[in-house]
Amino acid sequence: MDLPPASIAKDKHRVATRPSLPMWDQQLIAKYDVPGPRYTSYPTAVQFAGDYDLEVYRQEARDNLQQTIAPLSLYVHIPFCQNICYYCACNKVVTSDPSAARTYLDYLTQEIELQSPMVDKHRTVMQLHLGGGTPTFFDGAELTELMHVLASHYKLTDSERREYSIEIDPRTVTKDSLALLKGLGFNRLSLGVQDFDEQVQQAINRRQRYGMIKILTETARLYQFKSISYDLIYGLPMQTLETLSVTLDKTIALSPDRIAFYSYAHLPKRFKSQRAIDRLDLPSAVEKLEMLSLITEKLLAAGYVHIGMDHFVKPKDDLALARHEGKLQRNFQGYSTCMAPDLVGLGVSSISAMQSSYAQNERALDDYYQRLDAGILPIAKGFKLSEDDQIRRAVINRIICDLQLDTQTVEKQFGIIFSEYFGQELLALKPLQSDGLLCWHGDKLTVSELGQLMLRNICMVFDKYLRRANDNSSGREQSESIRFSNTL
Ligand code: SF4
Repeated sequence: MDLPPASIAKDKHRVATRPSLPMWDQQLIAKYDVPGPRYTSYPTAVQFAGDYDLEVYRQEARDNLQQTIAPLSLYVHIPFCQNICYYCACNKVVTSDPSAARTYLDYLTQEIELQSPMVDKHRTVMQLHLGGGTPTFFDGAELTELMHVLASHYKLTDSERREYSIEIDPRTVTKDSLALLKGLGFNRLSLGVQDFDEQVQQAINRRQRYGMIKILTETARLYQFKSISYDLIYGLPMQTLETLSVTLDKTIALSPDRIAFYSYAHLPKRFKSQRAIDRLDLPSAVEKLEMLSLITEKLLAAGYVHIGMDHFVKPKDDLALARHEGKLQRNFQGYSTCMAPDLVGLGVSSISAMQSSYAQNERALDDYYQRLDAGILPIAKGFKLSEDDQIRRAVINRIICDLQLDTQTVEKQFGIIFSEYFGQELLALKPLQSDGLLCWHGDKLTVSELGQLMLRNICMVFDKYLRRANDNSSGREQSESIRFSNTL
């Protein structure tokens, strides 16, 4: 490991000098800085269980994937990475063996052959996302083969409206790779930038020069990719307000269309690679909030729109338009436009999200291969949503996506009386209202500016499973705190 000795690292770690914002007092931070889900699904993956087997999946596929010709989303997970980034919380396999990709592609093809007959063949794939791991661990020939296999089994499209995206590790691609990706039909790129500061890059074991990102961004523009997105992280080791400010300036100068600025969640008990990070090199909760304030301030000043939950986009981006039209959705990749009601996940650990259920593939590569060797789909677990789950999912989605909730719309959609159905939740919201996180105008709940930073805390009030866990034993509470990152 080539991290600097801890003592040197700590000396160099400058404490934030920027004045704290008055609205963020310590008490409020302590009150709301608690473990909580990011709500890329409701119920969260923690609730998925093994009693959701292949038979349940087949029935759900018949009900959801075959009874409509509505657009479809596909997600393909490619788990391999050449190097480990210490902050990583993804399901990945670190290897430098290129033959791993070939083997995986063969199994992926088998899965596609088994899964695709369960989808109505008229459903157009309007959204396709290749994630990882590192999708660009596949070489050009393997990516071409994968796209060919997908096109042979699902109805891909060249519509201008399609959103075909791929996560890029800038260290693994060249200008030529971008040309190939464009030729294969991808029109959106998501670049893993994380941070431009060299000390931070060293502390997370991910070195990539600014010039490299600049060239890739400019090349992507030249090839007319419709959207370029950057993933960045705040709260990383050695990161300070000063270093973050420089990273922000460099980011703004390159002008990506979308920016996802995730909060680093330090969960070393859960993610082994994070044990290489010295806790003392991490910014405190107060510093992280100041970082979030700086990010918001600078990106808004640069003309970006804050979509919510760490996402910023240019005003003419599809996500901003979808927000404006009340059509923004949230799924396992974060925010999305409302183009397809069902998502089919392919590859190890992938999650499918159908209207009435979630299904997750085996998480370990060996188990995934074993299932496919037996000629069966590698579904490991899942969750069938009750009507109550669907109501709560709708409420949480609207709060996260619209930053407001019209209770009358929920009443009409589900035939309930909101104040009766959510009596307990309305009481639980009162302290949040007193703390200035939200306000009520008649039947409409609106999230305040402060509340936007604590969106997860507001949604958590409507999470039945979280409440149940908190009402039960302290042991369960402890296990929840290991599963979820802190909200701030
Ligand atoms: S952050 Fe991305 S590239 Fe780094 S180890 Fe994790 S999945 Fe691989």
